[in-house]
Amino acid sequence: MIIFGSRYYFWTTNRGTFPCPKCQAIEPYRHRKGRRFIHVFYIPLIPISALTEHIKCGGCRTRFKTSVLTQSTMA
Ligand SMILES: [Zn+2]
Repeated sequence: MIIFGSRYYFWTTNRGTFPCPKCQAIEPYRHRKGRRFIHVFYIPLIPISALTEHIKCGGCRTRFKTSVLTQSTMA
């Protein structure tokens, strides 16, 4: 039985819609941030990595860099 280890924990910081490059359509997104934590019984205790963030498409569930929100829709 594994009672401790490390894993990424993500949380949603923002929501909206964006032109998904993969769906080729306007889709809802979640702006998510996360860090890798040491966990004990799956309770995150100690952060062991830098903050990372991504944009997750609600349509295809692909993760994109946050710069996808500022790219031109004309691309
Ligand atoms: Zn998509």
